[in-house]
Amino acid sequence: MTEFDLIVPSTPDEAVAVLHAHPPEEVAVLAGGTDLLFDLDGGRLRARHVVSLRRLPWRTLDWNGATLTIGSTLPLRAIENDPDVRARLPGLYTAVRAVGSVALRHRATLGGNLGRASPASDLVPMLLALDAEVELVGPSGERTVPVDRFVEASRKTALRPSELIRAVRIPEARPSAYLWQRVRPFHDISHMAVAVAFSPAGARWRVAVAGFPPRPILVPAAEAALGPAHPSDPDLERAAESIVREAPIVADRRASEEYRRRLVRPLLTRAVRACGEELR
Ligand SMILES: Cc1cc2nc3c(=O)[nH]c(=O)nc-3n(C[C@H](O)[C@H](O)[C@H](O)COP(=O)(O)OP(=O)(O)OC[C@H]3O[C@@H](n4cnc5c(N)ncnc54)[C@H](O)[C@@H]3O)c2cc1C
Repeated sequence: MTEFDLIVPSTPDEAVAVLHAHPPEEVAVLAGGTDLLFDLDGGRLRARHVVSLRRLPWRTLDWNGATLTIGSTLPLRAIENDPDVRARLPGLYTAVRAVGSVALRHRATLGGNLGRASPASDLVPMLLALDAEVELVGPSGERTVPVDRFVEASRKTALRPSELIRAVRIPEARPSAYLWQRVRPFHDISHMAVAVAFSPAGARWRVAVAGFPPRPILVPAAEAALGPAHPSDPDLERAAESIVREAPIVADRRASEEYRRRLVRPLLTRAVRACGEELR
């Protein structure tokens, strides 16, 4: 690991100013460090300055009616321990608990998961199905970007130079479910994952799949196939077929294309049925 200065700003303005003062290739942002430290140690990143977010006032979780806003530096363990998240957003609760081990979740943050933009992220697909938005702050002020536009590809996000993720906003508590397949729960990342949510306000399903490059995606054809709140078996069959047909499922060193395609139907069926139970 190359040597770096550790800078620990106390306010968001200070953090943005520090980032702005250095060339982007010389500076890195540190939240929980569960991804970043590997990148620094392995030489993928050679930052001369590392800006820690640990003093920023972003370790927050606020419900406003049915809307949930989670500060970007809140450890995942705190999200999982919120009783309202468990009761009102069960899909998010399950997705958070799918991330690594308890020890890891004491450090890892939602902002870091979005910042890494992994195709196998457990949180991005669930946030897609929940129509979440990312609140950003940077030298030109604040802006909000839907998660679907924020995560562009592996390690590629819509973040502009010197911008930071401040929070993630989930507009509506929804019946939701997240199901994933992997070999060793605490050590592996998901080979294939399906996140579903039913929006009572919009009376429509949201379906996202993840686990393969380039990024987790929504599958509108599957959402349409599910139709009304309680899809029939043929609806489910059509939805699974549309994922197999339309999602860019590919093989990589972790799983074959065929294996991933075979996982679609059982994961989707169980996830939609779990939501159906909640709707009842
Ligand atoms: C053993 C192990 C198991 C894992 N298992 C899983 C798993 O099962 N599922 C899963 O989804 N992930 C998994 N991960 C990945 C990782 O833990 C998550 O991506 C985690 O949420 C990253 O959060 P962090 O706070 O540690 O981010 P960091 O490592 O601090 O940062 C990650 C990236 O995001 C950027 N960043 C962080 N915060 C911000 C911000 N506020 N604004 C702008 N940029 C920011 C950083 O600069 C960096 O590029 C695993 C990692 C390890 C080491």
